[in-house]
Amino acid sequence: MLVAGNWKMNLDLAAARQLTSGVVSAVGDPEGVDVAVCPPFVDLDATFSILHGSGIRLGAQNMHARDSGAYTGEISAPMLRAVGCHYVILGHSERRQYFGESDELVSEKAQQARRHRLVPIVCVGESLDQRESGDHESVVESQIRGSLSGVDVDFGSELVVAYEPVWAIGTGKTASPEQVGEMHAHIRSILLDLYGNEKGGQIDILYGGSVKPANAGELFMLENVDGGLIGGAALNAEDFAAIVNAARR
Ligand code: PEP
Repeated sequence: MLVAGNWKMNLDLAAARQLTSGVVSAVGDPEGVDVAVCPPFVDLDATFSILHGSGIRLGAQNMHARDSGAYTGEISAPMLRAVGCHYVILGHSERRQYFGESDELVSEKAQQARRHRLVPIVCVGESLDQRESGDHESVVESQIRGSLSGVDVDFGSELVVAYEPVWAIGTGKTASPEQVGEMHAHIRSILLDLYGNEKGGQIDILYGGSVKPANAGELFMLENVDGGLIGGAALNAEDFAAIVNAARR
């Protein structure tokens, strides 16, 4: 199980330090669950120092596909490694929607992440229109096949997929256990096809979209739900720790 907090564009340095300290003490020993926080770039270094020795890992929210060069405003995989990142979220629906990220770009970034031994958390998910027109499974399948094209792994633990229905992100609407169970089974079958039974069976598939302490337990009990990508609730140390506890059971 993996529980990762996506802080999005929230928290300046002082606030990030405060939340990180709160998360470290509220989560305690994360034994039995992989736990990560993904702050904004400018908070990564300070967050890593506070996480040191806690067992909680660091992730970034995005990354450029090249090592270095004339890409004003961008951050590379080696830079993320140098500040202690283990994970990088790629292809979040907000990046796809507001920054025009395509499956092809996400696949380039995911390949680059692997070259630098970062674990990509590759996000996929359908819009409300796509769900209502019954296209959700084919949309997610094509996002996965496109975003993971050329992305090789030696072990399933080197890659994470997050299913985040766009209509459930930050809206307070959570997909029903039935909807989540069906989609995660579909995603598992695609991963088995792409990576074979052993690796494909080991890849963590996270659910994301308004996960809260009140609904985490029910979601995490579902087959093929291997944890959560948490937005809003990750900004509160007690809520985040309660979600981590739900993953322990
Ligand atoms: C997210 O942005 O990854 C997310 C799941 O957000 P929220 O939990 O706020 O819906």
